[in-house]
Amino acid sequence: MWQSRKVLPEILIGVYVFCFGLVIGSFLNVCILRIPEHKSIVAPPSACPKCSVRIRPYDNIPVVSWLILGGKCRSCKAKISPMYPLVELLTGLLFLACYFAFGLTAEALKWAVFSALMIVLVFTDLRERILPDVVNYSGFVLALLFSFFTLPADGTAGWILRKAFAFSPPIPAQSLFDALLGAAVGSGLLWLVSEAYFRLRGREGMGLGDVKMMLMAGAFLGAKRTLLTILAGSVLGSILGIAFILVRRKQSDYELPFGTFLGMAAVLVMFFGTPLVNWYQSLLMIR
Ligand SMILES: [Zn+2]
Repeated sequence: MWQSRKVLPEILIGVYVFCFGLVIGSFLNVCILRIPEHKSIVAPPSACPKCSVRIRPYDNIPVVSWLILGGKCRSCKAKISPMYPLVELLTGLLFLACYFAFGLTAEALKWAVFSALMIVLVFTDLRERILPDVVNYSGFVLALLFSFFTLPADGTAGWILRKAFAFSPPIPAQSLFDALLGAAVGSGLLWLVSEAYFRLRGREGMGLGDVKMMLMAGAFLGAKRTLLTILAGSVLGSILGIAFILVRRKQSDYELPFGTFLGMAAVLVMFFGTPLVNWYQSLLMIR
């Protein structure tokens, strides 16, 4: 029975973290809708896009209100997109996963913020093929700030710095260098690919948005997991892209939301990337 004393607070904190995630998810919906249109994310309060009636607080409870109202506006009965409860639920679950994976730590906060940024980009790219600069750049700055309070993202910086200085530089310096390396690898690789595509095909295949997105994601993930994200995102995009074209029979020039695939890959890599990177390194016998 003594164990229940330890488990109960953990469950309570978990419930609290999940609910906090739902509320943040509700805010992310506002960001997904308004940032691409250059509207304020603070004011005015949410209203029905069809009849413009303000959404009352009791109709604005994450997930629950959508279910109670059957996915319809209370006054005009217009359909409300299932994207809203989906984004809220997704944010709640990812926040909960961050808590279980990293505990109540600065790491958990860093990855929760990263999840929120990825959710916004996944959906703005899916809806409108837009990866807003303001999300990418503020995320990049946040990643650099977090690097001072968290462990180095992947140790590549430490390895290089030890070679260069013959001593181990302080952890925050290693951490910041790891973030900058990840950003350089992520944005550099995607820029090269987009430049090569442009030279070969004579038209733009990938926007600069993807390059800036990986500048930001790279700063969170570090160099190795950034490479893994780009690889996984490309595989995911190829599989889902081909499936989509087969099902919908759209033309092959249909623009795929590459940022959406990168964002999905980045979240997977954030939880499962490290063991994979370690396994790959053990294959190559790199220590
Ligand atoms: Zn309405």
